[in-house]
Amino acid sequence: MRYSHLDPRAPLVLDTRELGRRPGSQRHVSRSAPAPADLGIEVLGVPEGTPVEFDLRLEAVMEGVLVTGTADTVLVGECVRCLERIEDVVVARLQELYVYDDGAHDPAADEESDVSRLEGDLIDLEPALRDAVVLALPFQPLCEEDCPGLCIECGANLKDDPDHSHEAAIDPRWAGLAALKNDERSSNTPD
Ligand SMILES: [Zn+2]
Ligand SMILES: [Zn+2]
Repeated sequence: MRYSHLDPRAPLVLDTRELGRRPGSQRHVSRSAPAPADLGIEVLGVPEGTPVEFDLRLEAVMEGVLVTGTADTVLVGECVRCLERIEDVVVARLQELYVYDDGAHDPAADEESDVSRLEGDLIDLEPALRDAVVLALPFQPLCEEDCPGLCIECGANLKDDPDHSHEAAIDPRWAGLAALKNDERSSNTPD
């Protein structure tokens, strides 16, 4: 149920009562809230309980309350190339219009048309935070832009061992010997 009763003291709930439903009235909200569970995607996300720093502007408009601002937090995941742990800051941008609850709306229609609503004077920030964080995630999480990844033959981390190679590259001191062996082999091949 989307419109379960919100707790006005919950960290991700905003109280808009001070705006008095007067179009044009504004309020600035700065607060820190612990990240809810499963914020992000499987390989890259915000660990539950990590502080999320909100810097928001609430503005009353004719049909509801417009919330705009940022949520800063920390992402943890792994590099898609070398699987090393990544820790990075993320600034998620929020912009959401919360329409006044007139008591006559159909929740299913709201879901379909993607309308967010106030519950009384309260706003639940969690759905907008989830959307904003997912939008702010990089498509390909990398530990560094030019991460060389892992050796396809043995799985060694090429960043730690840039000269890593297998028999593809032959030591120049042995190259002559290898050529000799090849000659031997071809002369032994029956015609
Ligand atoms: Zn990497
Ligand atoms: Zn290797």
